[in-house]
Amino acid sequence: MNHNSPRDISGLLEELGAGLKKRWGQNFLISGDVRTRIIDLLDIEPGAAVWEIGPGLGSMTEELLERGAHLTAFEIDWAFVRFLGDTLGARFEHFNVVQGDAAKTLIEVQAEHGNPDYVLGNLPYSVASAIIAVLLENGISAKRMVVMVQRELANRMVAGPGTKDYSAFSVLCGTRARMRKVFDVTPGCFYPAPEVVSSVVEILPGTEHEIRDPVLLSRLVRELFSSRRKTIRNNLKGSGLAAEYGLERLLDAFETTSIDTSVRAEALSTQDFVRVANALA
Ligand code: SAM
Repeated sequence: MNHNSPRDISGLLEELGAGLKKRWGQNFLISGDVRTRIIDLLDIEPGAAVWEIGPGLGSMTEELLERGAHLTAFEIDWAFVRFLGDTLGARFEHFNVVQGDAAKTLIEVQAEHGNPDYVLGNLPYSVASAIIAVLLENGISAKRMVVMVQRELANRMVAGPGTKDYSAFSVLCGTRARMRKVFDVTPGCFYPAPEVVSSVVEILPGTEHEIRDPVLLSRLVRELFSSRRKTIRNNLKGSGLAAEYGLERLLDAFETTSIDTSVRAEALSTQDFVRVANALA
């Protein structure tokens, strides 16, 4: 089939008895140029273990396999899982598809087989941040990851302190990896066209920060951003962490690290969050 042709795609969906499911963000990339740019950016070597999240009808999957990837694909839609198994599965030896919600199956496959060399995904909009959080919070590491997400989310992934896009998600991203927004992709490059612009982001997992307790760090960041307009001190009062550790102990952790609690969380750098969480741990 021609992956650039909306007619071929809707014909195939009909043949498979699979309607387009909006809730699963099924917008297919119909620009061969954009697909090639994304795959070039991933820059794999033959024999590399690659994970693809949300392969859909396999437009990028096929190109990855042709470049020698040993590929595991994570797809929720049974109709696509069967189609990919029948077509690419018959042509390529090193290919398998894991059916289910990637937010769960990624962790299961990591536990069984370890980390991949590369991760790629044109991610479904509604669960993109959850899937990225699963990758980063579970230490799913790789030499490089390349994801396509809604532009607003990409802006949050790369945002720095003091900017309007800086959020708990930015801190999660900044404390676990280096992120680079590489290029935007217009709605016309997809079928059906979404209402928003997308962006391709390169993620290089790993960081110079030593994180003593990653779960505690994630919790601290979430609680400090729970009311953006409140100061750190006011967010801490009445927080779950204060109930568990006691407000005094929390304030001590800020004092030892010389971080002022009368400012808002958005003023703190990713390193500041790590320092406080480490002091508390
Ligand atoms: N890779 C294809 C492309 O670029 O044309 C399709 C990308 S489409 C934006 C997102 C894909 O993710 C769909 O195939 C959809 O069925 C799948 N998907 C949606 N939610 C998922 C989830 N929770 N876990 C795994 N796959 C999911």
